[in-house]
Amino acid sequence: MSFTNVSIREALQLPEGSKARIRGWVYRRRIYGDKAFVVVRDSTGIMQTVVAKGSTIDFEKAENITIESAIEVEGTVKNDPRAPGGKELRVTSFKIISKAEPFPITASASREFLLDIRHLWVRSRKMTAIFKVRNTVFRAIHDYFKNKGYYEVQCPMFITAAVEGGATLFEVDYFGEKKVYLTQSSQFYLEALIYSLEKVYTVAPSFRAEKSRTRRHLTEFWHAEAEAAWAGLNDMLKVEEELIAYIVERVLEENQQELEFLKRDISALEGVKPPFPRISYTEAIEMLKRKGIKVEWGEDLGADEERALTQEFEKPFFIYGYPVKAKAFYHKTDPQNPKVTLSADLLAPEGYGEIIGGGERIADKNELIRKIKDFGLNPDDYQWYIDLRKYGSVQHAGFGLGIDRTVMWICGLDHIIDAIPFPRTIRRIYP
Ligand code: ATP
Ligand code: MG
Repeated sequence: MSFTNVSIREALQLPEGSKARIRGWVYRRRIYGDKAFVVVRDSTGIMQTVVAKGSTIDFEKAENITIESAIEVEGTVKNDPRAPGGKELRVTSFKIISKAEPFPITASASREFLLDIRHLWVRSRKMTAIFKVRNTVFRAIHDYFKNKGYYEVQCPMFITAAVEGGATLFEVDYFGEKKVYLTQSSQFYLEALIYSLEKVYTVAPSFRAEKSRTRRHLTEFWHAEAEAAWAGLNDMLKVEEELIAYIVERVLEENQQELEFLKRDISALEGVKPPFPRISYTEAIEMLKRKGIKVEWGEDLGADEERALTQEFEKPFFIYGYPVKAKAFYHKTDPQNPKVTLSADLLAPEGYGEIIGGGERIADKNELIRKIKDFGLNPDDYQWYIDLRKYGSVQHAGFGLGIDRTVMWICGLDHIIDAIPFPRTIRRIYP
């Protein structure tokens, strides 16, 4: 009799009568009469195993096994429509690799408790399903950029000047000498690198001291950023919509089971195909006013306004032409309309809102210095960034995609903390 090690997904595909050995963790255990039903979990799924009384000494082991114990089980595959996956394993050998202490997570666990115990909650089927989707999203981002001729680059996390405004900077003690910050975005470094590689991207964390509690802000989030030489706003919008459509397509291809487990409405994702609608900021303000929402032209749009706008669209949509004061200093002013910038955000539908911010950057040295001063900043702090405009400056544009927000939307989650294994927020840095 020979047993082969198989994953649970593989075991569930074996014909009746096959011998198999699976290993994993105890997901559930029940005793019915003279049988112990032990459901085993591995990274690929769950499978019911059945240990009969009297047959072997293994019954006692199975009877007393605790949730999350690591086990290795050998047996024969048997069809059973009542079992998850339609098959079970009739056990001939039940080996305990490591017996678990009483597992602290029960069905009545509160949300807060699950966050305190996140290092164990990551084993749950819900988290596992989300992580698999997240994995596809990261892969798809790398594949997309690779296919489009972008070079992947890596930028520093310690920086000396704000990219996105001082309010959300994290200060770090750097040998007690200098003021150093954690980066809010890798954009400025990507801008430097376009003069070497022309089309670049990076996938890295960004840090923001977000003081307000929202469902869509982390203090440490994963950022996919791209920058391209010779590109204007519209060139970038095309890249953005293609990228998002590609990510969604890959998830639909590779994560059907996970989306089903998460009860995600697939039809909403199937419609995510270019072109995405484009409305101007000014049109967005008019739309909001018609909906009875109090907004004034010139203000940035918050989560509430964005949510209201998403009701008007079935797929992701762009809002372009934000007012000069509503966006960071580096955005190029629209030569046709000096009140607005050549910027655009991409909003995800179904209430989710902004997942991408981007646009064309200021390429002219004097315009940049003027803008830095207008924003009350000190040009001395941006010396190397200004330098880039002195030596062969060209038109360029780029964007930043919030990956955790993208996962949140694709999985249909109601809070961003579930989109990342170990979330960092204003209140939480443990575990
Ligand atoms: P918001 O207005 O929602 O705070 P932002 O305008 O500050 O977003 P950008 O600076 O344009 O965002 O950053 C690019 C993208 O990074 C955003 O579209 C979003 O997807 C993501 N992002 C920004 N801040 C956070 C955060 N604190 N947590 C998670 N994702 C974020
Ligand atoms: Mg922000």
